[in-house]
Amino acid sequence: MREKQYLMIPGPTPVPPRILRALSIPAIGHRSPQFAEIMKDVTARLKNIFETENDVLILTSSGTGAMEAAVCNFVNAGDKVLVMENGNFGERWVKLNKRYGADVEIIAGPWGEPHNPQALKARIDADKEHQIKAVFVTHNETSTGVVNDIKALREAVGDHPALFIVDSVSGMAVSPLKIDEWKLDVVATGSQKAFMIPPGLAFISVSPRAWAICEKVTTPRFYFDLRAAKKAYTEKFNTPYTPATNLIVALQESLKMMEEEGLPSIWARHEKYKTLVRAAIKELGLEPLAGDEAASGAVTAIKKPGNIDVKKISKLMREKHNIIIAAGQGKLETEIFRIGHLGYVHVNDIIVTIAALEMTLKELGMDIVLGRGVAAVLNLLVKGE
Ligand SMILES: *Cc1c(COP(=O)(O)O)cnc(C)c1O
Repeated sequence: MREKQYLMIPGPTPVPPRILRALSIPAIGHRSPQFAEIMKDVTARLKNIFETENDVLILTSSGTGAMEAAVCNFVNAGDKVLVMENGNFGERWVKLNKRYGADVEIIAGPWGEPHNPQALKARIDADKEHQIKAVFVTHNETSTGVVNDIKALREAVGDHPALFIVDSVSGMAVSPLKIDEWKLDVVATGSQKAFMIPPGLAFISVSPRAWAICEKVTTPRFYFDLRAAKKAYTEKFNTPYTPATNLIVALQESLKMMEEEGLPSIWARHEKYKTLVRAAIKELGLEPLAGDEAASGAVTAIKKPGNIDVKKISKLMREKHNIIIAAGQGKLETEIFRIGHLGYVHVNDIIVTIAALEMTLKELGMDIVLGRGVAAVLNLLVKGE
């Protein structure tokens, strides 16, 4: 019964039938006028979802490919960069920058809490000589279920010339990210999160200021050279190398769906999922890792209940109930488990997930009154929340 599986992880996310149908079209020529039309249309729609006038480029890679592009196009070996790190994906910015030889300075925050913009401001204010070339941040830290306040972090950088580079792989189209208004230079995201299509595409926006830096940076790059991507798009509405054509056709369908729903409704829907899941788990005596203020609309991380092995929770959920949830990552691997609720998720999926979680925890010896978590969800739903 694999078809009835519930994919409740923070990516890859479930793919709607409409998009599955779009995916199944016969292969098309990637240098055909037909494909150029699709690229043009998809890029314009993507810019609407990014809410930006900046260039938005489509890469054939997972989200990390866009992150790699965000480093190798804007950072020279030896450049001082600042990474705001409060989770596994902040650590990825650190690793990427180190691999390219950057002089990485880390402002680390506790995993499970949002960054303190004051800490960034203090460091930026102290950099009178403008040694810092770029600041790397994570919008939605998927490993902890925390949303960082990107607006406040960007304000902390103020007029300092450092580029402001954001990983919004799991944040884009989940919660607001005002690229132009907040002046975010580079924003990276991927297809398998809120965009509701399978893994394989990444998207990256680049501000005019960032392009000027990109032209001067001498770091070796080929596949992820954004100048090549921009040139191919500008000249021919195309990509420099063979793109994942069927995924781009699927993206067109997903962007239409997102436009039909509207960004404010998409954000509100994710807010609602967050509220439902948190109400249910609290009712069951579980503790979310993130506090209410910074809790993510994409994923909820839940602290290990007592001595129960979190791996056993996900194993039983999968084997007995056909529900896939996620373990912890990095240093929280055995300390938390995570329920993803982004993209093509419905409240019904949440009700089923909570019901299965109750049965699972009871089987693992927790003192659970069956139905209490589900009732918390239902009560919120009938109240119209
Ligand atoms: C999923 C994700 C990524 C990218 O991961 P890939 O596996 O390369 O697609 C990067 N950052 C965050 C915050 C993510 O959630």
